[in-house]
Amino acid sequence: VSERELFQGVVKSISRGGGIVRGSHGEMTFSLKSELAMLQKTGVSVGEEIFYSMKGDGNALVERIAKRKSIFSRPDPLRPKLERVIAVNIDYVCMVSSLDSPAFNPYFIDRVLIGARQSGADFVLCLNKMDLEFKDKEKVLKELDYYRKLGVTIFEVSAEEDLGIDELKLFLKGKKSVFVGTSGVGKSSLLNTISPGLDIKTQETREKAGGRGRHTTVMSTFHYLEEDDLYIIDTPGFREFNLMEINKDELKFYFPEFEGLESCKFNNCQHIHELGCTVLDAVEKDEIYERRYDSYLRILDTLPKSDT
Ligand code: GDP
Ligand code: ZN
Repeated sequence: VSERELFQGVVKSISRGGGIVRGSHGEMTFSLKSELAMLQKTGVSVGEEIFYSMKGDGNALVERIAKRKSIFSRPDPLRPKLERVIAVNIDYVCMVSSLDSPAFNPYFIDRVLIGARQSGADFVLCLNKMDLEFKDKEKVLKELDYYRKLGVTIFEVSAEEDLGIDELKLFLKGKKSVFVGTSGVGKSSLLNTISPGLDIKTQETREKAGGRGRHTTVMSTFHYLEEDDLYIIDTPGFREFNLMEINKDELKFYFPEFEGLESCKFNNCQHIHELGCTVLDAVEKDEIYERRYDSYLRILDTLPKSDT
């Protein structure tokens, strides 16, 4: 049993065999106690609340990990069976989408929405680039109305013109938020507008700094802004977001609009083409939004068969 004094800290970033922790001693690199190192695949993640002791060399030794309040993860894009934890202990999964360029993609939103629900955190949608005028604006805003009906919290903002930022900032105060989005939606610009102290590289500064790839973040990074009382975890731009640990029979429970319609002829109905399916009926009668139903089918297609 260790008799050393333990201090509390939060993991800011991860690198091979350790990372950076922010604790009562400020920021320092940490390594993991050997028992914890064995579990490293899922062991310590960004946002992790840990207990550390001080080593002789002034670095931290992580001895214990606190119980997590939420875990936001996705399958590794290259090895889909492997879980990649994006962040833990967060209150909000803030997804940044743009009104246009890149195009608004509700199918992508639907996946992250489910991923957030699985994580135990609340989902928040930040629609950026509201300053843009483009011909399908009405269509996107209608799509947003549908999400509002589903109970999704939405902020319409413009990082460039500083619109809607104060409300968003107030909402984020004192909570831990992880920001996700496809690259180009303006996630970095938005974060810098929320707090210039974050000083996150945008597309322009990334290019100036020497080309694509090399200087972009590959992992989540935790930022704490004391004066604004903001805890923000930034992530690399996602190209895709798949779901894990959901089987085909469970997916329907993540679509609240199907609720109350579950009186299909077969009680294990997957709502694809079964006879007497009340969900299919509702789609036909326009009582369920077809675009969302289509999203359901697309996600279903990516999920493993259930074991039962
Ligand atoms: P990230 O890849 O999501 O981090 O996106 P960046 O913050 O690097 O921004 C991508 C591009 O979108 C840059 O050219 C920004 O200048 C531009 N951009 C960001 N926010 C806005 C906005 O609110 N309005 C408009 N019109 N452009 C924006
Ligand atoms: Zn059905």
